[in-house]
Amino acid sequence: MIPDSFKQDLLNRVDIVDVVSRYVRLKKGGANFLGLCPFHNEKTPSFTVSPAKQFYHCFGCGVHGNAIGFLMAYGSLGYVDALKELAAAAGMQVPEPQPRTPEEAERRQREPDLVATMEKAMHFYRAQLKGSPRAIEYLKGRGLSGEIAARFRLGYAPDDWQGLKAGFEDYSLASLVECGLVIENEGKRYDRFRDRVMFPIFNARGAVVGFGGRVVGSGEPKYLNSPETPLFEKGRELYGLLQAREAIRAAGRVLVVEGYMDVVALAQFGVGYAVATLGTATTPVHVAKLLRLADELVFCFDGDAAGRKAAWRALEVSLPLAPDHKPLRFLFLPEGEDPDSFVRRHGAATLEQRVREAETLSQFLLSQLRAEADFATAEGRARFVAMARPHLENITVAPALRMQLTNEVGRLAGLSAEELQRILAPSGRQPYRHQAPAKREFRAPSTTEWKLLSRVAAYPSLAAEIDTGLTDAAFPESQALREICAYLESLGVGREASQALVIERFRDTAHADLVFHAQAHSLELRESEDESRAFVRHTLKKLEIARKNDQLKSYEERLARGQLSKDEHRQYADMISEVKALEQRLQADARGAVQQ
Ligand SMILES: [Zn+2]
Repeated sequence: MIPDSFKQDLLNRVDIVDVVSRYVRLKKGGANFLGLCPFHNEKTPSFTVSPAKQFYHCFGCGVHGNAIGFLMAYGSLGYVDALKELAAAAGMQVPEPQPRTPEEAERRQREPDLVATMEKAMHFYRAQLKGSPRAIEYLKGRGLSGEIAARFRLGYAPDDWQGLKAGFEDYSLASLVECGLVIENEGKRYDRFRDRVMFPIFNARGAVVGFGGRVVGSGEPKYLNSPETPLFEKGRELYGLLQAREAIRAAGRVLVVEGYMDVVALAQFGVGYAVATLGTATTPVHVAKLLRLADELVFCFDGDAAGRKAAWRALEVSLPLAPDHKPLRFLFLPEGEDPDSFVRRHGAATLEQRVREAETLSQFLLSQLRAEADFATAEGRARFVAMARPHLENITVAPALRMQLTNEVGRLAGLSAEELQRILAPSGRQPYRHQAPAKREFRAPSTTEWKLLSRVAAYPSLAAEIDTGLTDAAFPESQALREICAYLESLGVGREASQALVIERFRDTAHADLVFHAQAHSLELRESEDESRAFVRHTLKKLEIARKNDQLKSYEERLARGQLSKDEHRQYADMISEVKALEQRLQADARGAVQQ
């Protein structure tokens, strides 16, 4: 898969406080940072982020991890996506992981082929646009400049059943079908896109992964998208994101619209921070992606029933994802208008004014729920509460918003906030969270080995001092200790940031639980590194004495039976003096500690 050396470089380069504080408000508290846990509801912060140790831990619900784990849990990202996200922020490029199956290997091998095919098609369509006065007229008629058309790499698919033949020497290429550019039917091949203005869809790395096509004349369907292909997954991509990135950062805001024509028209009029979903409803991947880029998300929909329905879907998807400091808004345009027509008719200033004044998430949520409610009867009010409840419970990372909405719903339903709270969180039922695992009860073992493990977790450099051969291999914590010591020594450094690497090393292993709890325990350990070192040395001496005493006992048993050889007699005598010396040193250490 992805090489360990890359993960190590990455984790050494990023700062977990930076990563977490993009989503959670953190306050300095001693050596660590504290915030309200994004994975469970709480009123006093128990979510702790350690800049020195480079991990987070919640003393309330037990979530624990490094920067990679945080992005996975918070953004519902897969492992590789989280790595990519983190790497992009650190200006690093993730090496492509090794394929897991032969099919994947084959697909991977084909991918450059597919990307090249799409790229070639884009160039072909762009060249066609230059030679088509009709398509140019159409774009001009929609108020688009040549500059904008070039920026979005717009093109034109000619009105020809096999137009791409002119762009590809070999029209029978399998990749043309795999990319969704050509349709094969009963042995015949023809172009999917004909007589359409072509909008290339780019992924985050700038590769063309799909096309949207808007018919130039009056054909049907008006809009046609690439089908899902190995390159193109509609629920993950957003049209215009590549071009909008800068403007989104500058404005701190992103406007989500429905059509690619809207994105291009808005950019033409100076509203550069718009992106479009691609003929699908808003997905959690879309929302998570955008929340990482912008502080404010504004969904823009038509004001008609279909628009309201789509907006409701976007709201439902966003509730578990949007934190308190990243507000969501819903902008409904007058009926019959889309962002394209609106901005052309009223100008950018009016549109941006509307954007700023758009309904907040809570306004939209309450107005929708109220519209269906009957407050005149107890049953009607109860039904209102029942409808509101799943939405309130889904607000998991915005505790302040959740509280205010709960109060408002309670007020409307004639219940006190406490009464409503009782209905909302019946004992044991946890609402949806960012994949936070249910807290498992952990009882720290009382063994010497656990105590050593927690010291190594606190100060990795102590690993070098521990002779793990002295520990009792029967305990799982001894095995964990052996593994962590071996790993830290293989790293060759005792830097505290290596805690984040330890998490990587133990992720999904049998000893993850023990190691992560030892790390969490180290946050509460009130010991300096020197004190921990003294403790470790003292403990090891005691273990050594215990081990030698065991051996002495077996010598004594055999001595009593007259079974000791001459050599063994000497070894026995040596061991007696060794134990005596060790015990004296232990006592001297103890006196030294008292004098300090
Ligand atoms: Zn928590």
